[in-house]
Amino acid sequence: MGKKRKKASVNQQKIARSQRMQNLVVFTILGVAVALGLFAVIQAAVGGDEVDTDQFDYENQPVLGDKNAPVKIVEFGDYKCPVCKRFEAQVFPRLKKDFIDQGKASMYFINNPFIGDDSVTAALAGEAVYRQNPEAFWKFYSTVYRNQGPEQQRWATPELLIQLAKKEVPGIDVKKLKEDLESQADLKAVDKDKEIARKLNVTSVPTVFINGKPVKDVFDYEALKKMIEEEAKKAR
Ligand code: CA
Repeated sequence: MGKKRKKASVNQQKIARSQRMQNLVVFTILGVAVALGLFAVIQAAVGGDEVDTDQFDYENQPVLGDKNAPVKIVEFGDYKCPVCKRFEAQVFPRLKKDFIDQGKASMYFINNPFIGDDSVTAALAGEAVYRQNPEAFWKFYSTVYRNQGPEQQRWATPELLIQLAKKEVPGIDVKKLKEDLESQADLKAVDKDKEIARKLNVTSVPTVFINGKPVKDVFDYEALKKMIEEEAKKAR
């Protein structure tokens, strides 16, 4: 009997020990998971993470080039942002020539207007133009950037935007654009864009994503090119 009991208690000890080991393993795994989770949150906060491309709502954004191209470039911009103006002048034409016109990439624009009230006016105009005539959008986009006024001034007035459309963008019903700006007809679309930016932690402009991967320096064209080429290769 005594022997049996001793054996039983040795077994119990073994069970208890293995349970302690199990608990240790479980706690270690939990600890690592929490640490990794925190790391992911920190990474997302600095904008280093690849994002879920469904969030961009590609279908409802202006697109340049072949929608079915293997690489999708997304720019978040504010028409009042001088760096966005520089992006339009220096990087956009190269992307267009090297990738968009070649059918290798398509480009999308999403509003992130935050510099002034007139950033929203310009965004509303862009959405209204796009709704009227999707083909005309990119001409309007470039025209507004090229006629950008000083950041601190309220220059993106309905009058100026209508005048620019009339002068520079063929295929726009200017009267309709005026009405749409007066009634803020596209406020929902602009708010939706702002919500996308907020959800994806886009806190500066221009912010560019290549197939959902954030671009560190939009003016480092070699790096940008490499990213696009890598994504195109993956799709092959
Ligand atoms: Ca939009």
